[in-house]
Amino acid sequence: MRIGHGYDVHRFGPGDELVIGGVRIPHHSAFIAHSDGDVLLHAICDALLGAIGRGDIGRHFPDTDPRYAGADSRDLLRAVMAQVSDAGWQLANLDATVIAQAPRLSTHIAAMQRKIATDLQAAESQVHVKATTSEGLGFCAREEVVAAHAVVLLQSLANG
Ligand code: MG
Repeated sequence: MRIGHGYDVHRFGPGDELVIGGVRIPHHSAFIAHSDGDVLLHAICDALLGAIGRGDIGRHFPDTDPRYAGADSRDLLRAVMAQVSDAGWQLANLDATVIAQAPRLSTHIAAMQRKIATDLQAAESQVHVKATTSEGLGFCAREEVVAAHAVVLLQSLANG
């Protein structure tokens, strides 16, 4: 077994849509980011890379590389999962938390879980996403950012 943790945060800027967990959510702003700014998928990428001891998303997809400008983070997640598989591991389960004062995410969670499970070649029952506010405290509460934490457990393909 291997365990990995990932964290990411993105700031709001001008725009009318957020992408979180691969789901497009209408909002009064968008993420400022080199890619689509999908904090949840970035945290999951970092958790997977951490679990197999291969650094973080910035090392594999540098934000100075024009190839990743406006990148669909689902493409990044699938590329990371391919590395996980090549290294001989598969997902046991994923647990993630998105911290956002706004927008409210509860109606989008099921769609996020479906997309993430597809990209991780896993069943929906292996993928759990939760959303919380920050109780009016800190930068999340001022509606300046969305943050995400992710923890993954991997199991050896040889034992799967
Ligand atoms: Mg990021």
